[in-house]
Amino acid sequence: AAKGGGRGQYRFYSSELKDGARHRREIEEDLRDALSMDQGLEMHYQPLVDAKTHRVKCFEALIRWNHPERGWISPGDFIPVAEDTNQIGDLGEWVLRRVCTDASSWPGDISVAVNVSAVQFGDPNLPQIVCKALKDSGLDPRRLELELTESVFIGDPNATHDMFVALKKLGVALALDDFGTGYSSLGYLKNAPFDKIKIDQSFVRGSTENDNNNSAIITAIVSLAGALNMTTVAEGVEAMDELELVRERGATYIQGFIFSKAIPQDVVLEKLESGDLAFEPNGPAKHRSE
Ligand code: C2E
Ligand code: MG
Ligand code: MG
Ligand code: MG
Repeated sequence: AAKGGGRGQYRFYSSELKDGARHRREIEEDLRDALSMDQGLEMHYQPLVDAKTHRVKCFEALIRWNHPERGWISPGDFIPVAEDTNQIGDLGEWVLRRVCTDASSWPGDISVAVNVSAVQFGDPNLPQIVCKALKDSGLDPRRLELELTESVFIGDPNATHDMFVALKKLGVALALDDFGTGYSSLGYLKNAPFDKIKIDQSFVRGSTENDNNNSAIITAIVSLAGALNMTTVAEGVEAMDELELVRERGATYIQGFIFSKAIPQDVVLEKLESGDLAFEPNGPAKHRSE
């Protein structure tokens, strides 16, 4: 910590903070430009496959930003900046409109999942924004799913409840993302109308190594979800033995690099138009290569 160090260390620390602030301001301004000029931001789509058939049932929309100087920036680096600088509303609306438009041109009835930040969830206009994106694109609301994290429960319980009701009224599905990492409380699950629970990657990866409780937690979440009439997704499956484990434990859907990373819209269209909806597991098989 800065207070334990001498003068030199303090100066070093404070200039690092300043660099951090400058970096964030640069991201803030460049993101504003990217949004206003509709340049550099793209949506890519990662398949969620049926655990039994490996056929894609849904694609999760993941934002990608090709920055003019910095190249590809990860959403983990700019979504928080967008949330802090009042841009997440505009960005979230851009995402919803783009995703609904893209998905409305997919053949068949594959659904699409969109991440909604807790800041967006706190905006009373969100249902109207979703409704307009659906109407303008013609996408069937039953094909749209919103992914929320446990952080939406930090807000006022009445407002949270009203938002759940308003969103469900639109006919969209709701998924609880990154389950198990946040302020998990089973009381939230009891009162919230989720259709799907996404088991966080941290429980899935390494779930087959000895000496950890991850596989027991996966089993418990699958069982809980079943009792509550919700489906489950195992997120972040990379290896063959992880795939076997989560399938054996009864996860409904699998998402992870073992099947595919997020792919651009033209590749999604190619895949869906081919009529072959199955994905092949091709991740590193630990038990075979070691
Ligand atoms: P998330 O919603 O939990 O999305 C899953 C993340 O895990 C994605 O990272 C995805 O590429 C990554 N992932 C999927 N399978 C694997 C795997 O097998 N191994 C590994 N190592 N990673 C895997 P990504 O695209 O970098 O997104 C990070 C986070 O940024 C997302 O986490 C989500 O919270 C947020 N995000 C992404 N797009 C959007 C968006 O359009 N709007 C909002 N509000 N947030 C977004
Ligand atoms: Mg997500
Ligand atoms: Mg997740
Ligand atoms: Mg995440």
